[in-house]
Amino acid sequence: MRFFGYLWALPVTVVGLTLALLAFLTGGSVRVRGGVVEAYGGFVGRLLKGGWVRRGGAAVALGHVILARDSECLERSRTHEMAHVRQYERWGPFLLPAYWLVGGWLWSRGYHPYLDHPFEPPPV
Ligand SMILES: [Zn+2]
Repeated sequence: MRFFGYLWALPVTVVGLTLALLAFLTGGSVRVRGGVVEAYGGFVGRLLKGGWVRRGGAAVALGHVILARDSECLERSRTHEMAHVRQYERWGPFLLPAYWLVGGWLWSRGYHPYLDHPFEPPPV
């Protein structure tokens, strides 16, 4: 069953792997842990520091890849991001469009598009 989760999330994982490779080529670190590729530092660290993901700037999951600003952010965010990895296994390539649609709808209704988002796991 896990195989289908990997296959279903693969289109997004490929994007994550590309960014992980860029992180590695620019001085970052890449490893595999718990069936997920984890990358931090280098280009990815600079990208996340730049604020392209506002509050979630510490780390982001793209399929079976977790990208983090640095090792500390990775450790702190792993449980949260693993919840998103499970969502990718359920929603596959539709997770990101669904996430943004729901976020936009929340924002248009005066809710917080991140804090009130049902796809965001509760803080640990
Ligand atoms: Zn999240």
